[in-house]
Amino acid sequence: MKNALILLAGGVGKRSENPTPKQFIKFGNFNIIEYFLTYLDSKIFSNIVIVANKNNQKKYLNLINKQYPQHKIIFSQSGKVRQISSLNALKRLKKINPKNVVIHDAARPLVSNKLMKRVLKSLETNVACVPYITHNDFIKIKSKENINLKNNQILYIQTPQGFRYKEILKAHSKSKEIDVKDDSTLIEELGIKVSLIKGEKANFKLTYKEDLNLFNTNKIREYRHGIGYDIHRINFKSKNKLILCGVKISHPPLIGHSDADVGYHAICDSILGAMSLEDIGTHFKNTDKKWKNANSKIFLDYCYRLLKERNYRVINLDINFICETPNISKLSNKMKKNISSLLKIKISKISIKATTNEKIGLIGKAEGIAAESIIQISND
Ligand code: ZN
Repeated sequence: MKNALILLAGGVGKRSENPTPKQFIKFGNFNIIEYFLTYLDSKIFSNIVIVANKNNQKKYLNLINKQYPQHKIIFSQSGKVRQISSLNALKRLKKINPKNVVIHDAARPLVSNKLMKRVLKSLETNVACVPYITHNDFIKIKSKENINLKNNQILYIQTPQGFRYKEILKAHSKSKEIDVKDDSTLIEELGIKVSLIKGEKANFKLTYKEDLNLFNTNKIREYRHGIGYDIHRINFKSKNKLILCGVKISHPPLIGHSDADVGYHAICDSILGAMSLEDIGTHFKNTDKKWKNANSKIFLDYCYRLLKERNYRVINLDINFICETPNISKLSNKMKKNISSLLKIKISKISIKATTNEKIGLIGKAEGIAAESIIQISND
């Protein structure tokens, strides 16, 4: 059984005192729509139609299919009013012909997956379902007469609103009214009962600047950690230089398929680990001739791009070299500069330390150099 989602993102944002429409405002690496798609359970909907005007699609959403392939996203042109936007999107779903469709306002990014599922659950026995909330503040009405209203007499209607696809398409096609405020009103015009379920206070609509601040404090923040370790043997016969974190050092080099930069390799593994993307060997096979003697900054740059694509940024990085020689403390500033420019982070976020192995084992006998790296990343 197919369920589709229509995400209305056609708003032009006059009220929030920001020239960028609110659904495209960035918080850290995310705009509001990317945030919503990141936390939306991809199993709920078979397809998502994002409704936005063509310019905004190009300007803000050009990478969205690549970033969220799991959601099967279709774009639809927005109309002058909400109703036309909804109708355009419903028409885009004709071929897919879902059983149910849920229409949601992109300006409500804090909706929970639970509420989406409850709306769909209600559609098992109802044609239309709409969430509402009540407020317990005392209500006063600006009027000459004294009108007393009780809190529970006022229902604040939210999205996501769920419908049987065929019925909502019929309601939109038949409607002659130009600017209704929500889709459930049209269903009611057909004489169909709309089931009301309890909404969520956290699912508020971002309208004013104050709302954007409230979103920023309420959004989910994800912090992840990764660990990486690498070791290479020293080649005493070679006249080449040693390379550690991109710094060339007058010291016998390490043996490896690439330039054998243990520092960069350990950092790469920690980044990949933090995103649960296995290790450097999976992404760059050491049997591939392409990487023979390769400059390892290519690998680190690749890891940085994976971070960016997934909207993560580096919080901090702690690297530890284990070697008898060379003296790392003299080289650490240059190493930090290289890492800082590749990962686009401040030098103050990078720590480089070193320890010897007390003459024990391969490293202790100065036959090899090892490096370990721990990283913290976040999507905030
Ligand atoms: Zn390595």
